[in-house]
Amino acid sequence: MNSEENNKALWKACLDNIGEAVLITEPNLEQPGPTIVYANSAFQTLTGYAPDEVIGRTPRLLQGPATDPSELSRLRSELEAGSTFEGETVNYRKDGTTFQLHWSVTPYPGDNAPTTHYIAVLRDVTEMRQLEHRRAQLTTLVNIQRTVVTTGLNLEALRRKVADIALSATDADGAAVEEADGEEMVYTAVSGTAEGMLGLRLPVANSLTGTCYRIRETIECADVREDERVARDAAERVGFRSGVLVPLIHGDYCFGVLKVYADRPAAFDSSHQELLSLASSALAAELHDAYLYESTQQRHRTFADNLPVLAAYVDQDMRYQEANASYLAAVGCARADIIGHPVTDILSEPVFSRTRPHIEAALNGEHVSFELRLRFNENADLKPTETDLIPHRGPRGITEGIFVIVRDITERQNSERDYLTGVYNRRAFDERMDALMSTAQRHGRQLGLVLLDLDHFKALNDHYGHPAGDTVLKTVGQWLRDHIRAGDVVCRWGGEEFAILAPESGINETQQLANKLNQLIRSQAIVPVGNVTASFGVTELQLQDSPATFVSRADENLYRAKREGRDRVAAD
Ligand code: GH3
Ligand code: MG
Ligand code: MG
Repeated sequence: MNSEENNKALWKACLDNIGEAVLITEPNLEQPGPTIVYANSAFQTLTGYAPDEVIGRTPRLLQGPATDPSELSRLRSELEAGSTFEGETVNYRKDGTTFQLHWSVTPYPGDNAPTTHYIAVLRDVTEMRQLEHRRAQLTTLVNIQRTVVTTGLNLEALRRKVADIALSATDADGAAVEEADGEEMVYTAVSGTAEGMLGLRLPVANSLTGTCYRIRETIECADVREDERVARDAAERVGFRSGVLVPLIHGDYCFGVLKVYADRPAAFDSSHQELLSLASSALAAELHDAYLYESTQQRHRTFADNLPVLAAYVDQDMRYQEANASYLAAVGCARADIIGHPVTDILSEPVFSRTRPHIEAALNGEHVSFELRLRFNENADLKPTETDLIPHRGPRGITEGIFVIVRDITERQNSERDYLTGVYNRRAFDERMDALMSTAQRHGRQLGLVLLDLDHFKALNDHYGHPAGDTVLKTVGQWLRDHIRAGDVVCRWGGEEFAILAPESGINETQQLANKLNQLIRSQAIVPVGNVTASFGVTELQLQDSPATFVSRADENLYRAKREGRDRVAAD
């Protein structure tokens, strides 16, 4: 072997020992293309063709239908201009399988000298591209998940977001979420060219979406014109030439179908399909949560709206966050006009100033109950109400707001009050007496009882007439109410008799109370009858007392007062 041959052999050996495939061709770019004059052994490993099989042929034998023609024409124009080319496209192995080929082609010898050969270095980048693709998909998926999670649990907003995400992640023209309603699929969210189709209903039976929903599998349609499953006219009317449909499945439940489509054939490849399938479970989970949340909300609202009370929720900033139908009706506001607004915007100044201390106490964590006469709106009558302010302790144990429950107690009051005098009736009094007696006896506390009877009332009635007698009863009733303590209970015992229970009062305090009332009645004239008087029987609770013994002692004392001349107090 001379030294030149030796050199050649050395170079060949060198080329056969490097990992990258090398092809050398002649420079002819016209048909049938540059002839291969050399291929190294890595080329055989890459393509399956032995060097002998390709020498004399052109690199076109590596190309096929999936090879990008624009990449080939770029190759040609770069080489014609004498520059080095770098490019990438699908190529075919001898066995017909494809791979992603990156190749660089350098004219030889270059430096403006006439080209005698092209040296091509070929590299299989399939795996690398796949990895990159996976990484991009993963990034997209993470972004999708982040987007849906931050959209919150508003079902409508979330559906819309899902359609938007699908549209942009697949470069589709249109996207829609479709949900089953009985025998129909309904467009519940739309994006892109699907805009305007919200609410559109198509039968489950004859639509591709219906099929996707039923079989719960991804469906791809490359071209409606060649797909028998699709109602072609309807599809093309909405701009659907090709598309991908994925079921939105969470657990056992299929929420509906996510559909993307384009007005051109084969607009979507397997990577779009894969991305949608992967994203669909996250989207379905989020939709499912939003659905459950909304359903719970609806349930709570229906509950609240049907309760026979006014109910609202006020946050720490004293802004309404919830209000039931009765509350809205009472304040005369639509829900939108009250939610988020401060209570000062809704309640009248007098009502707010009277309730403010209670609200503040409740916001400090105290359960507050109070009675208030309220005028719900300008035209309404004053109504007796009982309000509960219940602190809402959030998951961290901090009071986050208060539940406001307002009851109209007109009826209860009516049933508990004597219609003529407005003081408690006998039944209400008996209930309270039972409760007060047992509390006092259990805790060894004092409880005083006063029975009072107007003097010579029959004569008064006879002289001035029954209506005048009524006026006296009303007036005395009002005086009694005005002059007892907050915890005292006064009732109309019957006819022209009243009874007063005075908790925490022994015989002396009770006697003082009776003396005060005796003096009060005696000293104030009532039109048209003038001054009236009353007699009083006073006693205090004994440990062994029953209601009957307790009352009868007071009664005996009352009759003693009568016997002893009326207009006086008699005690034990
Ligand atoms: P005394 O000083 O002994 O208590 O004499 P009195 O006349 O007050 O007692 P008596 O029990 O004989 O009469 C009570 C009267 O009270 C009889 C009844 O007509 C009258 N009365 C009872 N209920 C009502 C009422 O709702 N309205 C009016 N106007 N009178 C009533
Ligand atoms: Mg009497
Ligand atoms: Mg009397």
